[in-house]
Amino acid sequence: MKSSLNKTGRRAIVIDTSALIAGFDPFSINEEQYTAPNVRDEITEHTMPWLRFKTAMESGKVRIKKPQKTFLERTKVFASAMGDSFFLSETDLQVLALALELRTDGYSPLIATDDYSIQNVASEMNIEFAPLSNFGIRRRLQWIRYCPGCHRRYPANYKSPRCQVCGTRLKRKPLKRNRVNHKAPQIIKQRPKHEPSQAQEQKP
Ligand SMILES: [Zn+2]
Repeated sequence: MKSSLNKTGRRAIVIDTSALIAGFDPFSINEEQYTAPNVRDEITEHTMPWLRFKTAMESGKVRIKKPQKTFLERTKVFASAMGDSFFLSETDLQVLALALELRTDGYSPLIATDDYSIQNVASEMNIEFAPLSNFGIRRRLQWIRYCPGCHRRYPANYKSPRCQVCGTRLKRKPLKRNRVNHKAPQIIKQRPKHEPSQAQEQKP
């Protein structure tokens, strides 16, 4: 990655979940690196990204830092002003808030992410970001959202935080690589006509 250290201070790379799952290697760059507690929790244990991340944490290469509440709240204000809040998970908000906090601490933060919502809010906050291709990662991670209650699946940009059928809060996971080129089953694009309307707040 080309380093563009600017006037504000030392470069700090903030890593999001998509970066780690897509294969970002903290040991491949020299800059200080940070991530948020929720990012660690989103990585499946005993996978390659998990091992890489664990090693990087234990050696001090990546530091986990929980953003202070005040920065989380400022981030939420930015996100909701943009209408992006539905697409941002708690983890995404932590990542953005952490970058904001690091900047206040005198760093020059850069978020390593392929997530469009994070990128949008970051640019609104005047925080730099770089797509993972800048770090030598070719694969673009595809997310899917799913309902932990009834197991229905939703597209990553589905405009509600909750399942339209059972109302459970949706979670997300990376779409398995071998599924990317196939038609994913059960993805709900819009409310089926025969379903009862349980989620009035989704109406535009
Ligand atoms: Zn459901």
